[in-house]
Amino acid sequence: MTQNNALKKIKKEGKSGINKIRILHYLFKLGKASVHQVCTAIQLSAPTTLALLSELVNDSWVEKKGLGNSNGGRKPDLFGMAAGKFYILCINIELFTVHISLFDNTLAPQGKTVAIPYSLSKDRESFQSVLKQAKELVKNSNIPQEKLAGVSMCLPGLTNPETGENFGYLTDNNDTRPLRDYCAAFFKVPVIIQNDVNAAALSELHCGKAKGKKNALVLLMDWGVGLGIIMDGEVRKGASGFSGEIGHIPFEDNGALCYCGKHGCLETVASGVALAKMAKEGIAAGQHSILKELSNQELEKIEPRLIVEAANKGDLFAIKLLSNVGSNIGKSISTLIQIFNPELIIMEGRIAAAGEYITLPMLQSINTYCMLQIREKTEIVSSDLGISANLLGCAVEGVNHFFEEHTK
Ligand SMILES: [Zn+2]
Repeated sequence: MTQNNALKKIKKEGKSGINKIRILHYLFKLGKASVHQVCTAIQLSAPTTLALLSELVNDSWVEKKGLGNSNGGRKPDLFGMAAGKFYILCINIELFTVHISLFDNTLAPQGKTVAIPYSLSKDRESFQSVLKQAKELVKNSNIPQEKLAGVSMCLPGLTNPETGENFGYLTDNNDTRPLRDYCAAFFKVPVIIQNDVNAAALSELHCGKAKGKKNALVLLMDWGVGLGIIMDGEVRKGASGFSGEIGHIPFEDNGALCYCGKHGCLETVASGVALAKMAKEGIAAGQHSILKELSNQELEKIEPRLIVEAANKGDLFAIKLLSNVGSNIGKSISTLIQIFNPELIIMEGRIAAAGEYITLPMLQSINTYCMLQIREKTEIVSSDLGISANLLGCAVEGVNHFFEEHTK
């Protein structure tokens, strides 16, 4: 009996089975909860909730996780999902690297994350080697294949989670299947895909700085620029999953040509790609910078992380580049603050790692362009999830999806 079938088995119990799965899903979202919290959330009586929880404990899906705070009486028992019930293989596809990791149903990573150098393009043929390495990772883990509930992927570009299509990358003309279906045929388990910034927003909402927040924005400043929108405590993906494409909003009149085909997009002046391009052009034009040494005189190797490293070592050219990006991002964020009135903006990604070199000019821009009353209500912070943010977002989406599929 596979765990997948085990969840199906719970579902077959009828109404109480569906309620058990809803309880498990709720425990996943909260981490741990008291009987009272579960009753209120699932809208069941206390005796029914207790009976269902005790059956879940007996079947080793749920275990006690210590005591909660008391309101004067006895401290309540807290319940949480048991670890290792099922696993999600997570694949975070970036422009030049793919990160792969396995997570269990409690988001505990299983073994190390694998980083594969890979140049993302339309070519599906070359992507086969990445898929093979992902399959190897599962094979080499101690996890029984039947406990693999599915694969959850994220990548840049317009990605529709409903249809499983990505419109920018891995769109081989010889194979018209949506990317999701193409991968599902390879793995022979369910596959889900989403946009990278939505994955980042989901990880922040579930286990990062947006946890418990109702209205927050997640600004991904990496090779590209993207926006994750959290409203009313949910990640809002838009009608087709395309929300948050701020990298391609018009920023400069008669600006540089963007890879999307338009001119003057925000990404042409405030992205990792733009930053690396400006650094290379500047140095080629004779700008003095330690980036030359840091890249071992190979200018092609200059990437955002290297520019941040140079800035941290006091390199004026790198600091100036980051400052310009910060000002431009700040101007764009002002528009977002005015539109969304968020309580929190979380910055993520390689460029966000530049810290104050980015945030100070950014704040200056925000103060210049934003209405004070709205700006005052917005806190701006850096993510502390690091490079695992997108993978975690894939894992959260995978577990959510698995439960939702079984409560339909
Ligand atoms: Zn563009």
